[in-house]
Amino acid sequence: MSEIVKMVYEATNSKMPIARIADKISGIFVPSIMIIAVLSFIVNLCIFKEFSQSINTFVSVLVVACPCSLGLATPLSIVIASMIASKNGIVIKRGEVLETASNIKTAIFDKTGTLTKGQLTVSKIYSYTKKDENDILKIIASIEKNSSHPIAKAILKFAKEENVDLEQIMNFEEISGYGVSAIYLDSKYYIGNRKLLEKNDIKIDEKVESDLKELLEEENSIVFLASDKEILALLGVKDVIKENAKEVVIKLKECGINTVMLTGDNEKTAKIVADKIGIDEVFANVTPKNKAEKIKEYKEKGITLMCGDGINDSASLTYADIGVSFFNGTDIAANSSNVILMNDNLEKILTIISLSKKTIKNIKENLFWAFIYNICMIPIAMGVFSKVGIALNPMIASFAMTLSSLTVVLNSLRLRKINLKNVNKK
Ligand code: ADP
Ligand code: MG
Repeated sequence: MSEIVKMVYEATNSKMPIARIADKISGIFVPSIMIIAVLSFIVNLCIFKEFSQSINTFVSVLVVACPCSLGLATPLSIVIASMIASKNGIVIKRGEVLETASNIKTAIFDKTGTLTKGQLTVSKIYSYTKKDENDILKIIASIEKNSSHPIAKAILKFAKEENVDLEQIMNFEEISGYGVSAIYLDSKYYIGNRKLLEKNDIKIDEKVESDLKELLEEENSIVFLASDKEILALLGVKDVIKENAKEVVIKLKECGINTVMLTGDNEKTAKIVADKIGIDEVFANVTPKNKAEKIKEYKEKGITLMCGDGINDSASLTYADIGVSFFNGTDIAANSSNVILMNDNLEKILTIISLSKKTIKNIKENLFWAFIYNICMIPIAMGVFSKVGIALNPMIASFAMTLSSLTVVLNSLRLRKINLKNVNKK
């Protein structure tokens, strides 16, 4: 019995997922009760020599100790909390999230489409061939039509506004974290970032380098258009930071959570965005593989939450303890995450943390109520106090047992009335 009491104490103070502790407790509790019931039967039979009274004691111990409320304590809170989450536009695919989110050590964000709106606008085009701006746009938009990246969507929208007709392309290839390539009118083209050029041994000359610098000064993300030999054009695209990104990051930091940005975009733009939002650490030019490796590193320090929208984020979303994606993001990201936000409001991350803290508190209360009855009633059911006229028969024992389950159910239902606004509160 002392072992069980010790574990209940551990459950209410431990950082280990509470469901696992409750599971461990049940594993010890059930066999212990069987032994106690049999011993009570034997002792009663030896002392009173009355078979029916001994059977009464045996049944009373089993009934009063029946751990239904213990079985209900964790899942009931988790189910109610999941329902509250979905009412708040948060789909939680795994209940574990509600247990771990209260202990997040690092919150990691993708940039484009996660911290920024992902609704980019094309701000400038530089051409380095005889082709005019319209021809350049025609090549890029015809190829980008096949990509779901926010940059591709922005370019397509711009091409539509400029009434550019699109052509058929062949051999389209999306290189996640780098860009795209395809064959357009018998020539191969690459559209993407600097790393894509490096990968294909395409050199950047001085003129391009100076235009590039200008675009970066103006806080643009850069899109290169290149043939398989040289750079043909440069595009500057601008994104807007989500309104509440800064506020969310401030609140996460107040909770003692380290904030990190992982982006495939260039270092300068990444740093500007991170500074504006107040993110602690920034890693730019990272490939999807590097992103996943970074998550593994952070996981060694504690529980990690990763929030991302793109195909390039899917591996990191899988590796993170809590992977958060958006309903409007890519399907791959949604499949790889264990939480989906129905809108792209970052504040929902604070709601998850707040809900998790309240759920853990509720589970601990449930475990307390599930055990207090058992711990008080078992000695009475065993007949320890029968000499002073305090005893249980199976009927009263089953009433007490029902009372304990009822308390747990009512306490879990209290979760529906909680206020999720204050994320700092336990
Ligand atoms: P982030 O991590 O910020 O969401 P991604 O990993 O999706 O960015 O992309 C990294 C970089 O790769 C982008 O900033 C862009 O330069 C380039 N890129 C990726 N996909 C495309 C595309 N379809 N067209 C142009 N550039 C792309
Ligand atoms: Mg993204």
